[in-house]
Amino acid sequence: MTWAGVELGGTKCVAILARGPNEVLARETVPTSSPEETLGAIEHILAEWKKREGFEALGIASFGPVDLDPDSPTWGQVLTTTKPGWSGTNVAPRLAERLGVPVGFETDVNGAAIAEMRWGAGRGMRDFAYITVGTGVGVGLVVNGSPTRGFLHPELGHIRIAQRDHDHWHGVCPFHGACVEGLASGPAIKARIAPRKIDQIAAGDPVWNSVAWALAQLCQAIVCAAAPGAIAIGGGVAQSQPQLLGKVERMLVESLTDYMPLPRESGYIVAPALGRDAGPLGAIALAMNAKA
Ligand code: ADP
Ligand code: ZN
Repeated sequence: MTWAGVELGGTKCVAILARGPNEVLARETVPTSSPEETLGAIEHILAEWKKREGFEALGIASFGPVDLDPDSPTWGQVLTTTKPGWSGTNVAPRLAERLGVPVGFETDVNGAAIAEMRWGAGRGMRDFAYITVGTGVGVGLVVNGSPTRGFLHPELGHIRIAQRDHDHWHGVCPFHGACVEGLASGPAIKARIAPRKIDQIAAGDPVWNSVAWALAQLCQAIVCAAAPGAIAIGGGVAQSQPQLLGKVERMLVESLTDYMPLPRESGYIVAPALGRDAGPLGAIALAMNAKA
């Protein structure tokens, strides 16, 4: 069976047509500009695929904030956002109507978590977390097989944490200053090391200890709240700095103390097995779930 997926990102959107993770039939990238331009282009690509190859269902993994409540009159829309023109944009109902297939709709990070559980680092687990560390810090959290959702989708990247001893840096989140995103996102690191450039910073530079600590504190919150089987950390920062994973794990173990031993000695904090494809394949996994 063939499935279509769209990952809506802050700077670009990826549409893919696939039979599974190892059988991607087509892939197109569209820049994220105005909703009309971007969704119009995506709609056009999907309609062509529908005509040429056909597909069973569509999955949409979107940047937030989005309405995920199927009982809400605004399900499938982008909620109030600082992204110009996108507040109140109808995404999922519009594409469902145009394409005439079942549509699954989730946050990008929940989609990535679901894909990793189906095909990657979370296989066989019922509880799993996927953290992206890129332009922002986002967390997809699946508990007892279901992605978490409340009056909104949780935003664990914005928890306030205890900083390391002697570290009082103010952070860059416009809402919380030194929340995890304000300390560990790409823009936060850039601000902290300026005028040095991020790709010129050595793997042993002390700034990575501060970043790893913030991520370890985030992981402690996730472990204490949901005790997932493993936590994958992806995104541009984590993928460019693979030394971070081991550091985060060591700091997490130290921070948890013996109170909560992890389910394995090492390899609890892992890279996403699907790498850069966790996002778009998340949308494919959502399509499969929408049809099921
Ligand atoms: P997005 O979150 O928008 O999808 P990415 O996951 O691609 O973006 O991550 C982009 C971030 O990765 C940028 O903030 C950038 O500063 C950061 N980045 C790029 N190169 C490096 C590097 N060598 N080391 C650490 N971070 C990097
Ligand atoms: Zn914040």
